[in-house]
Amino acid sequence: MVRLLWAALALLVCGCQTPSGFVSSGNFSAPATANAVSGFETDAERILRVGNRVMQAAEAHCANAKPDPAPIDRGSCRFPIAIADSSAAFASSNTERVRVSTGFVRFVMSDAELAFVIAHETGHILRNHSVSVSSERRQEQELEADRIGVVLLARAGYDPRAAASLLQRMTNSGLFAQSDPSHPALAYRTRVLRDAMNRTEPAAVE
Ligand SMILES: [Zn+2]
Repeated sequence: MVRLLWAALALLVCGCQTPSGFVSSGNFSAPATANAVSGFETDAERILRVGNRVMQAAEAHCANAKPDPAPIDRGSCRFPIAIADSSAAFASSNTERVRVSTGFVRFVMSDAELAFVIAHETGHILRNHSVSVSSERRQEQELEADRIGVVLLARAGYDPRAAASLLQRMTNSGLFAQSDPSHPALAYRTRVLRDAMNRTEPAAVE
């Protein structure tokens, strides 16, 4: 039943790609379907552990930065994370939750890179981004989510340089679409982030 519900929600959300099936969701509890070998962290558990730190940072960021970028009409800046059990690497968000695939855990090189994936999607929610806007605006939204993602990354205690290194590897991998008119090219996003970080110390990127 829960799976069906999530499958239905998946059709409604506005992400970059369509996941093949959710296995878990909710408020940072480890998924029941996690196939853990005792003593080892599953991919899903890793997403939730890292995601929890990002969400704590998001909450603190909202508390310290009202009214902007605190979302309008939202009591909390802490959002549930849904985990898609898929070997493909994808992440997305709708207005109230972040989704990450277990395949992304295998693509990232560090917790900091995984944190940036989650922080970028959280940035979309914090700014009330929408897919119902022009392609030009959607491109701006991507850059804005990157910028907020770096702030949250630093606030969560991760090395913010992981953001650019992840985008660079996504570019080089060829695994991610480069021609979607709603998304700026990954290489461009990498350059924008690197430029911003060269100009400013991470703690002051806000
Ligand atoms: Zn995005």
